[in-house]
Amino acid sequence: MGRFRWRALAAAVTLGAAACGGAAEELVDEQPAPGVRVVLRTTAPFASAPDLQERLDDTIDVALAYWGGTRGALEGKTIVLVDEPHLEGCDSPTAIGCYDGRTLAVSTRDPSLGTFPCVEATALVHELGHAAIGDPYHRDPRWMQMDEVAQALEGRTGYTRDGVTGCAIYVSVWRHPLGTP
Ligand SMILES: [Zn+2]
Repeated sequence: MGRFRWRALAAAVTLGAAACGGAAEELVDEQPAPGVRVVLRTTAPFASAPDLQERLDDTIDVALAYWGGTRGALEGKTIVLVDEPHLEGCDSPTAIGCYDGRTLAVSTRDPSLGTFPCVEATALVHELGHAAIGDPYHRDPRWMQMDEVAQALEGRTGYTRDGVTGCAIYVSVWRHPLGTP
């Protein structure tokens, strides 16, 4: 049993209609108590795969364990997965993820890598770090490490439009130069 329950919301569907026709659905985390919302505004194949809930749940657990955070760090937060590599609200025009204190916005497409084959490979692990420890200037040395997170998440299935591939993880997607915003 996954910890998420699919729930289609009219508001989310409206957002999806504005986002290049990508289907939008909403996941609500039921267990444990903190209510993290997950909004999908992406056409990435992994986002419509039946294992998304479980994969997302596990990625959250692995990332929070690395950052020393608990599920409570996500209470009242929203994870939004979008197609665009340039995220509204991000300071950098090349950001593939950003966190504004409430929303973890994560692109499902990287400008050089293309569409990510799995949720584990996105910048979600990085943004979960901000939700767990803050540190907007990336002063914690762990921002340039994360090999153990890659090891914990590697070797899984990825998805393309044509079927199944590997879930290739590049830690460079998660790392950030220390001392810079
Ligand atoms: Zn960051």
